[in-house]
Amino acid sequence: MKLLEDVIREKGTILEGGVLKVDSFLNHQIDPELMKALGDEFAHAFKDHGINKILTVETSGIAPAVFAGFELGVPVVFGRKNKSLTLQDNMYTTSVYSYTKQISNEISISKDFLDSNDRVLIIDDFLANGQAVAGLLSICKNAGASVAGIGIVIEKSFQKGRRFVEESGIPILSLARIASLDEHGITFVDESTDQNND
Ligand code: 5GP
Repeated sequence: MKLLEDVIREKGTILEGGVLKVDSFLNHQIDPELMKALGDEFAHAFKDHGINKILTVETSGIAPAVFAGFELGVPVVFGRKNKSLTLQDNMYTTSVYSYTKQISNEISISKDFLDSNDRVLIIDDFLANGQAVAGLLSICKNAGASVAGIGIVIEKSFQKGRRFVEESGIPILSLARIASLDEHGITFVDESTDQNND
């Protein structure tokens, strides 16, 4: 998505270890107009997949997920990282290792909001090693929900998450795909030579 690539080039900062800082529009301050454009793109791509629910993880997946949910007319459920005292039981829980924070988080989703009637679109801000997506897939499996697609805002294609998703056979749409990220700058996967971004 050209608009997103332009914003990443203009506002993204490259940190050590192949980490991209996007605090000015996605991870801290949020650009609503851009989030709407991202949400619309996900909704358009997955509108014929029979989706009745969007699943994401707090915090940064929520904004694009809500715009996609608005456009598709379906609710958005986000995995909670801290168990609320009022939500101790009746939860699906899985452990997710955070690439950027280098800690494991428990992700919980209430059984009230996910079950075997659900056909889910998973949305997240980044795909790096695939831990967050794997955690959400495992929760969907436990709930008996089917996963119709995965929407990622920024994919770091040089890490192993993309391959993991492709091997799962679930359709994936990543709106920006970064081929490399280093002191020389950001290179995006050339869409014209890539056949897999369906
Ligand atoms: P994964 O679970 O695929 O390894 O990483 C996905 C999660 O890690 C995302 O939800 C995001 O919070 C975080 N993450 C991974 N790589 C980056 C990065 O380069 N920049 C930022 N800002 N977050 C990242």
